[in-house]
Amino acid sequence: MILDWNTIDTVLLDMDGTILDRHFDDHFWLEHVPQRWAERNHTPLEQAKKQLYALFRSQENSLNWTDLDYWSDRLKLDIPLLKREIEHLIAVHPHVIEFLLFLKHSGKAVWLVTNAHSKTLNLKMNNTRIGHYFDGTICAHQVGVPKEDNGFWDKLQKFISYDPARTLLGEDSETNLTTAQNYGIRYLMYISRYSSKIVPRNSEHFMTIEYFNSLIPEKGQSQIRLSLPK
Ligand SMILES: [Mg+2]
Repeated sequence: MILDWNTIDTVLLDMDGTILDRHFDDHFWLEHVPQRWAERNHTPLEQAKKQLYALFRSQENSLNWTDLDYWSDRLKLDIPLLKREIEHLIAVHPHVIEFLLFLKHSGKAVWLVTNAHSKTLNLKMNNTRIGHYFDGTICAHQVGVPKEDNGFWDKLQKFISYDPARTLLGEDSETNLTTAQNYGIRYLMYISRYSSKIVPRNSEHFMTIEYFNSLIPEKGQSQIRLSLPK
């Protein structure tokens, strides 16, 4: 596939897993929260994990999934405070900054579009200092539905005016790439190395990259030839 940057005006980027290491989020929900919950409820850790994982799954693909206030209330834990306890794990993926600089120099409109709750977003922007590379940030909570919802990408037009035929979306969720594809967003990139702790696998449906430097052309060029990572 040839990607020609002259055919793209707008770049939409997901946050967790796409530009930031999802190890933070995976570790937070799968290890840190069950541990603190087990301590508080005098429950063995394995039992706490079993119970909480089932509870998390029940809210998947809904806005509650990323709503810190919902989980603070439901679990009777101060979730934003617990996030700060492990904030040293928040990290920007390799090559993201050079990609954002390339986009800025090329005059593209660049938006961070995330399902994350505003409290998570603030914590991550304060830790990584990458907010200023973006024209703006949109949280799914503002839009009213998560990116997994087929109506999301149309509703997003109320916040960002974009031409789906001239837009590129980077995501580590194939579900979200599918809803974007259904809406007509033309350039869809799956980020396979969403966590520094996983072995990446190519998507069967979407063009896959491990790192964003694959999308940066040689100086003075607008085109880049993409092939699937080995
Ligand atoms: Mg993500």
